[in-house]
Amino acid sequence: MSKYNMTCDNCGKVEHVLIDGYCFDDRLLEDVEFEVRVVNDKVKVVVEESAKPYFETLNEKLWLKRAKEFAEETDIVECPYCHNQMLFATELKPRSIRKIVKTLKI
Ligand SMILES: [Zn+2]
Repeated sequence: MSKYNMTCDNCGKVEHVLIDGYCFDDRLLEDVEFEVRVVNDKVKVVVEESAKPYFETLNEKLWLKRAKEFAEETDIVECPYCHNQMLFATELKPRSIRKIVKTLKI
């Protein structure tokens, strides 16, 4: 079974889902959407087409990294078609454990 859910209750299987930059940066990226795809059970994130000009003045690489980290851990994403919330990560580990692992760089 995949680690991530890509099926919307309303629309069925979707090719990508959306996350809002607000989720991992409260001001700078508010209303900036990122497209999240899952390829071979790995999360891939790109800047949504309409948000591209916004990134000309920002460190796109850094924010894509942040977005990817967030997407890998989030259980709620948005359907790109009906904009309903969808469940995403299906095997969530407790956040505290993940933090320790990150700190130790295991
Ligand atoms: Zn939908």
